[in-house]
Amino acid sequence: MIAENIQRLRERISAVCAEIKRDPGKITLVCVTKGRSLVEVEEAVRSGLRDIGENRVQEALLKYNDMPQAERAMLKWHMVGHLQSNKVKDAVKIFDLIHSVDSIDLTQEINKQAAKINKVQDVLLEVKTSPENTKFGFSPEVVSNARRQMFQFSNIKVRGLMTIASLGDNPQASRPYFAQLRKLRDELNPEWTLSMGMSDDFEVAIEEGADIIRIGRAIFMGTFPKVPG
Ligand SMILES: *Cc1c(COP(=O)(O)O)cnc(C)c1O
Repeated sequence: MIAENIQRLRERISAVCAEIKRDPGKITLVCVTKGRSLVEVEEAVRSGLRDIGENRVQEALLKYNDMPQAERAMLKWHMVGHLQSNKVKDAVKIFDLIHSVDSIDLTQEINKQAAKINKVQDVLLEVKTSPENTKFGFSPEVVSNARRQMFQFSNIKVRGLMTIASLGDNPQASRPYFAQLRKLRDELNPEWTLSMGMSDDFEVAIEEGADIIRIGRAIFMGTFPKVPG
């Protein structure tokens, strides 16, 4: 079932990429495994997925520690959920990319804990593009200022921007938020990566320039948008 869903997901990603002439190989598919068992995660890994996304540090640690060393070493671990300051110490130990940096205070703590283990932590700045749909993130107006403040942290490397737009049934409803994130990226740093798009709206996100999509339900439950973006 999971293998079939992943196959179907890859086909839909390829189809939308063909339409807009993007290379599907350049789109990172993060498999969001919150609430899923290790057995389910391992099935996704057997189907070729190498990027694992988690919402909670505690849950991520359990899976990380239960996995055979050889398996977890071939994976990239992504923190996609809101990160609390008291979890940062554990988070910097396991995550390759933290998508959800949403305050300067949090950045400061990540910098401090990363320094302790001699790591430069890759992060994305989370942007609240749709105030009614998400609690966390920098408002678009302050991202530029936040980015300037990031330069003081030598154990942090900002790689791009992340947003959550999903409104449920209609993928087109997400489009303005994705377009806004892309515009912001183009203004701030064209080299930056864009993490946007979930099970409900990944095709629209790819059309609007997503480099990383974060998918849970489509993989584990076969929940796909009825019509492609
Ligand atoms: C749960 C979650 C996802 C995946 O959402 P699905 O709708 O299950 O694809 C992506 N990003 C974040 C931040 C999430 O919390």
